[in-house]
Amino acid sequence: MILPITLTSEYAHPMTHSPNTFFSKLPSVDSILSDPTIKIVAEKYGHTAVTKSVRIALQAGRNNHDTFSPSISRQELAQLIVNATVLDLEKINRYSLTPVFNLSGTVLHTNLGRASLPNEAVEAMIAAAKSPTNLEYDLATGKRGSRDSHVESLLCELTGAEAATVVNNNAAAVLIALNSLALRKEVIVSRGELIEIGGAFRIPEIMTRAGAKLREVGTTNRTHRRDYEEAISPRTGLLMKVHTSNYRVEGFTAAVDEKALAVLGREHGVPLMIDLGSGTLTELTDYGLPHEPMAGESVASGANLVTFSGDKLLGGPQAGLIVGDRALIEKIKRNPMTRALRVDKVRLAALEAVLRLYLMPDKLGQRLPVLRTLTRPIADILQTAETIAAGLREYLPKDLDITIVEGVSAIGSGSLPGEELITKVVMLCPTGNKKDNAKRVRLLDKGFRSLATPVIGRVSNGNLMLDMRCLDDTDDFIKQLDQLSHLIDSKTRQ
Ligand SMILES: *Cc1c(COP(=O)(O)O)cnc(C)c1O
Repeated sequence: MILPITLTSEYAHPMTHSPNTFFSKLPSVDSILSDPTIKIVAEKYGHTAVTKSVRIALQAGRNNHDTFSPSISRQELAQLIVNATVLDLEKINRYSLTPVFNLSGTVLHTNLGRASLPNEAVEAMIAAAKSPTNLEYDLATGKRGSRDSHVESLLCELTGAEAATVVNNNAAAVLIALNSLALRKEVIVSRGELIEIGGAFRIPEIMTRAGAKLREVGTTNRTHRRDYEEAISPRTGLLMKVHTSNYRVEGFTAAVDEKALAVLGREHGVPLMIDLGSGTLTELTDYGLPHEPMAGESVASGANLVTFSGDKLLGGPQAGLIVGDRALIEKIKRNPMTRALRVDKVRLAALEAVLRLYLMPDKLGQRLPVLRTLTRPIADILQTAETIAAGLREYLPKDLDITIVEGVSAIGSGSLPGEELITKVVMLCPTGNKKDNAKRVRLLDKGFRSLATPVIGRVSNGNLMLDMRCLDDTDDFIKQLDQLSHLIDSKTRQ
């Protein structure tokens, strides 16, 4: 809970006592430091930090002396200073990066850190983090090994590719692949695929930074095989196909499929690279979801290189996965940029654990949080919504309607564009005059975001919408709701 140090509230009683009597009642730093509660927090945060917070609390008391009742006792004042000290310490020691409840309605929310990892991955990360590992050490020979060795064979098995490597994220994968294979050469891309992905990742700009020259072909809605063919020249380094993951061109459209492009590339001795964006390693229709291109499908269609994200539909840690022809992967691995884009042992440990889950298809749907969330039965989501709606009813003002409505969750991160999942949403709707309501909803939203585990909802049409699809732990959610009443405007309360 974020509360400023103001020693006022129920003792407020402006200017009816002389400052001198008030100051004489203020406890000393040492007496506060010997308070049992303060001694406990000092164990945790250390003597120096605690003393500093005590001084800040005392100063706040002096500054606001005119707001205290003249009848306040020494003990009451000392207790207020203790409370303010503890609040200050908790506030300044709160981690900036903190878990939140993602009730935004977007499952793979980039701003909320995308995929939540399975327990198998979390355990592997802890083990790798706590101890030295064989990250780049070959246990068989006792010589230097390769970081890719821990995941390369898994990626090959899961995609049918000859070789694989891993970098920081998919943007890095695209960057290093272009730089390794098309430096000062042309890369032919359809105009319909010159996409921007959130966070200013634009294919044309990444191309420039990679030192490659973009050769656009076709038009926004239609690109044909002959467009690519006519553009191929001795200057061509790569044919590139980008999965237009965050939008869809509909209507009078034409694109050249991967197989046809791969054949064209082979005829002219130019490799085909595919940026899949999300991509997956399993057939999502088996789980009742819409089909999403699989890395293995691109490999099978003859693509020479395929790049995709670790933390989108794959459900793993942030990573950029590159699979494809051995000669091309070797060239990428020799690029000095790999050193700047490599992943650390903790993420590799998580990635290996997640990839291993894909080797157990019958367990995957339950163990991989992304798949579990995307396939969560509506009856289950409804049950969560009912529990949460009842919990909220206890803590929210009576003039706020709480209803459960049907909604749609988005998959997010540009995955499965246009595909949406039916969900249940707890809708908080103020009843009252419209003008105040907008403000009340903003305050309510802010109150939820200020909780110890912030709740991220979505304001829509003057209502606060809390999508229940991603809420697993209703107990943890409800446990902190009693803080809500402190955080929302008193006018919002009854
Ligand atoms: C998401 C995406 C990227 C970037 O991947 P990150 O893992 O976020 O770096 C690149 N290309 C496409 C097509 C994408 O959808």
